Amino acid sequence: MTRSAVHRAIVVGVLVAAGWFVYGRYEAARPCAQPIYYSLGTVDPRFEVSRAELQSVAARASAIWNRAQGRPIVLYDTNASLKVNLIYDEREANAKLGVDILAKQAATDQERATLDAQQQQYTIVQNDYNSKVAAINARGGATRKESAQLATERYALESLGSALIAEVRAYNAKLTALNNAVAEYNKLAGHTLEEGQYVRDASGERINIFEFIGTTQLERVLAHEFGHALGLGHNDDPHAIMYAQNESGNLTPTAADLAALSALCGT
Ligand SMILES: [Zn+2]
Repeated sequence: MTRSAVHRAIVVGVLVAAGWFVYGRYEAARPCAQPIYYSLGTVDPRFEVSRAELQSVAARASAIWNRAQGRPIVLYDTNASLKVNLIYDEREANAKLGVDILAKQAATDQERATLDAQQQQYTIVQNDYNSKVAAINARGGATRKESAQLATERYALESLGSALIAEVRAYNAKLTALNNAVAEYNKLAGHTLEEGQYVRDASGERINIFEFIGTTQLERVLAHEFGHALGLGHNDDPHAIMYAQNESGNLTPTAADLAALSALCGT
């Protein structure tokens, strides 16, 4: 399951071979006749998801198909050879960076609004001071008292100006750091990244999860990969569990999902 345009599908073994061998395998692997069983494999601690939590999210994901079929077809078993693994690599790190960037962007937007307001205020005080000086000069110059008063005002204005310049510098430094983070994020996000995959090869079956933010997204990726483990392929409904990309957040099988399940497992 991917999060961007091109899906690097793990082709679920479609074996076309001649003779009795194909028939024999078909009988042995008849979909949904027996439930499929999964267990937990490697759970990288950097996901900050405990095994108990992963097990409960996986139970919810499998329940989506069990409810749809009206009987258990995906079940947990401690000894099952189909392992669910959480594998931490740059994908998850980048997903977290993306969340961090959004939070920092919101904070800098807020900061910019405050700075703009302060600058407007500074301009008002500055114009006020300048017109006062112009008026005094127009009538020939300041009295000693006025001169002292103007010096105090000028000092306050200069202090305010220096403080503002320092704030703008600090803001610009944050913006540069943020722009660097965005460039780093885009380097990876521009590629096609798999959030999860179902693999069946010579060494067996496994579900590898690489990336998710929050348990709802994890549940959806797991439901999708369980679908592959059952034998379901992708469909074209963007809201479907079995759509190639994880975009909608929907956790209920759509008509397209149900039709594919029914074709695979019967009713
Ligand atoms: Zn898929």
